[in-house]
Amino acid sequence: MTEVAKMLEKIEGDNVKFIRLQFSDIQGQIKNVAIPVKQAEKALTDGISFDGSSIEGFARIEESDMVLKPDMDTYALLPWRPKEARVARFICDVYLPNGKPFEGDPRYVLKKTLAEAAEMGFSFNTGPECEFFLFKMVNGEPSIEFKDHGGYFDLAPTDLAEDVRRDIVLALTDMGFDVEASHHEVAESQHEIDFKYGDALKTADNVVTFRFVTKTIALMNGLHATFMAKPVYGINGNGMHVNCSLFKEGENAFFDPEAPLQLSDTSMHFIAGVLNHSKSITRVANPTVNSYKRLVPGYEAPVYIAWSASNRTALVRVPAPRGKSTRIELRSPDPTCNPYLTFAAILAAGIEGIKKEMQPPAGAAKNIFAMSEDERTKSHIETLPCDLITANKHFIEDELICKALGPHIVEGMNNIAKLEWDSFRTAVHPWEVEQYLARY
Ligand code: ADP
Ligand code: MG
Ligand code: MG
Ligand code: MG
Ligand code: MG
Repeated sequence: MTEVAKMLEKIEGDNVKFIRLQFSDIQGQIKNVAIPVKQAEKALTDGISFDGSSIEGFARIEESDMVLKPDMDTYALLPWRPKEARVARFICDVYLPNGKPFEGDPRYVLKKTLAEAAEMGFSFNTGPECEFFLFKMVNGEPSIEFKDHGGYFDLAPTDLAEDVRRDIVLALTDMGFDVEASHHEVAESQHEIDFKYGDALKTADNVVTFRFVTKTIALMNGLHATFMAKPVYGINGNGMHVNCSLFKEGENAFFDPEAPLQLSDTSMHFIAGVLNHSKSITRVANPTVNSYKRLVPGYEAPVYIAWSASNRTALVRVPAPRGKSTRIELRSPDPTCNPYLTFAAILAAGIEGIKKEMQPPAGAAKNIFAMSEDERTKSHIETLPCDLITANKHFIEDELICKALGPHIVEGMNNIAKLEWDSFRTAVHPWEVEQYLARY
């Protein structure tokens, strides 16, 4: 039996009546087309056409015909939909009518970068830690009213949102996620759910699915889940630490029992590459004006460009586990990012580090936030870009990262950053009114 025939049999056996074909726009937002099940065979063989011109950062009107081809590995039932007429989804790749992959498809960009790593014998694993807030809905609209006042690892009864979090974990598990942990985070109403790391394409798919499932289940419970980077001033924002490792022939290439700290040369080169491109990666991993309100001192988010094997204040941390679990953790990304592009940018930077055998500076042994500016200057510790437009400037000047993402995506991201920045820059914010209205 062919792959397609097997898939069609499974779809019928699961009593599926509708299929959602999903893909991501340039900003990592899920788009989807629903088709009735009788279209499944056509979708799985020829693909389904759609108009790309209405998708953010996709095509211009004159070249808008595009084709969605489902990736059969991504089949999953939506567990909250009716059991008598099930809804399944596929994540799709986007093609042009001439059969070529569409260069503006973020999934394609990641696949291309993964293929480059594969040529060097590496597979790239990521383990993202997604944080989010659960806020109350007020008069049918999302608010920033806390649902609970719990803190890190708190248990019920403080953690009123525990039931909702459990429902989210159950839905994710039904959809094939291997959930490793879920806990209350540091801030009020803030939560984290971790799933097992895996191949970066699969985990990027998982991140977009995770956001969609979390929002859906929260809403079914009358709550608004937000991944916005810094929804409330004065408390922690939402991060999406990305744990990364390279495997070669089934072995963790970051682990070397003989090396200092048991960290291989490969891992050191990778860290050096990531640090070297960290300013432009910030544009990708922290894509909103608001993202930069999180990257400030005092809230566990990184500000300074440094790595460390011992403390959590650095941009790149090497968590304690070794062997198969040897990994580096990039702490800057936030969950508003496009995970496909973020993982592609990290990998491209890391690969360059390996190819050029780059060495990182000495690891920061102490709390970087406690160092004086003078000490940081002496240790050559630079800071991450402080706002979107600065990050964007680093990004468009970074040849390696631009090449990895491709001209179509770079142009789209550049336009989005400029538009958002102009809109923000020219708005009059409550802070300004508070500061100046009475004084002048
Ligand atoms: P933290 O201590 O930073 O809160 P967590 O325990 O919340 O870390 O999350 C660690 C993440 O790292 C998990 O998603 C886990 O699956 C992932 N991870 C474990 N081993 C690897 C590895 N070899 N490569 C990439 N990610 C890994
Ligand atoms: Mg964590
Ligand atoms: Mg943890
Ligand atoms: Mg966390
Ligand atoms: Mg972490």
